[in-house]
Amino acid sequence: MAKLKIYTFPDVVLAQAAEPVQRVEKSMHGLADDMLETMYDAPGIGLAANQVGILQRILVMDTEFEEEEDEEGMGIIRNKKPVIIINPEIILLEGKTAIEEGCLSVPEYTSEVPRAEKVKLRYQDIDGLERTLMAEGLQAVCIQHEMDHLDGKLFIDRLGPMKKEMAKKRLLRERAIREAAGLSPKKGHKGF
Ligand code: ZN
Repeated sequence: MAKLKIYTFPDVVLAQAAEPVQRVEKSMHGLADDMLETMYDAPGIGLAANQVGILQRILVMDTEFEEEEDEEGMGIIRNKKPVIIINPEIILLEGKTAIEEGCLSVPEYTSEVPRAEKVKLRYQDIDGLERTLMAEGLQAVCIQHEMDHLDGKLFIDRLGPMKKEMAKKRLLRERAIREAAGLSPKKGHKGF
């Protein structure tokens, strides 16, 4: 297993649409494991392949894990419930919700975004089997957020024009400052 690089705004791979996976091959287990390791390490509750520079319709998520600290203050993840989703297709959207969203590719920025409250999804699992999933609340929002990534869209693209402009300016400025100082984005909020 290996931790992958997480691309951040305005890296172009985040603005490109991912391609459907033609055949779920055995080799995909490695990529999915790497994506999960990268997500848990961030820590995040969801990660789409675009975010690690791969334009294939794959996403991973776990909206239920708990994070604790050991005696040395190192983070440990408990009660993992990883889900691997390939070629997702929304077959039903219901209701309205908005929660504070963060994104591992949009560091140190959060905002509420209008989303559907419930989502029904058709997808393939890591063995290539057809499955459906009914999600609501945080998991439903996470799925919509990750599927936006697969379409080359970020959650800040769903903000009003003024707010979006301001967010993008701030993100560019902060990234320039971080890069000049050789720093990585701060860890801390569970983005997706
Ligand atoms: Zn994201």
